[in-house]
Amino acid sequence: MPVVYIGLGSNLDNPQQQLRSALKILVETPQLRILADSGLYQSRAMTLPGDETLQPDYINAVVQLETDLLPAQLLDTLQMIEDRQGRVRAERWGARTLDLDILLYDDLQMNSERLTIPHAGIAERDFVLYPLQKIDNTLNIPGRGPLSELVASVSDKNLQYLGEFNE
Ligand code: ATP
Ligand code: CA
Ligand code: CA
Ligand code: CA
Repeated sequence: MPVVYIGLGSNLDNPQQQLRSALKILVETPQLRILADSGLYQSRAMTLPGDETLQPDYINAVVQLETDLLPAQLLDTLQMIEDRQGRVRAERWGARTLDLDILLYDDLQMNSERLTIPHAGIAERDFVLYPLQKIDNTLNIPGRGPLSELVASVSDKNLQYLGEFNE
């Protein structure tokens, strides 16, 4: 069965609770089998160039799972969970209650109108690379190379490990 990595993020309405609730929904979704999670991280918000508006910090995590769902079906499922947790679709990178991104889908590389896999930001984002490494330091990112080398090229100074989901 394909092994998939999902990135979770929230910076609105009790973000830690948003992620705990999202993990619970993922666990309860029949087509998904959760294998591991990274625990919770806190990171500074990314903003669009020219946008000086301050956003609250993010809470982030990565979850490893197995699924028979195809990538587009998995995205449908994740977007349903985002909607269920009250996400309002506004500007890209705007504050949100829950963001669920497909980071990796086995060793698949694809680029469609709806989906870029591996996720387009995977190689530059501290809040993705470090949690991925926590789960599997030996990962290879298709088209980008060994995860350990990507981690070494990105600072973790804006990233803080908070502990396990259930603490
Ligand atoms: P970013 O993708 O840079 O992290 P974002 O998560 O804020 O930004 P969204 O507004 O959540 O962006 O999503 C915009 C669109 O991105 C989605 O409707 C989806 O079709 C598309 N998309 C492309 N690749 C992926 C992926 N790997 N995982 C999730 N969505 C993706
Ligand atoms: Ca995102
Ligand atoms: Ca997203
Ligand atoms: Ca350090």
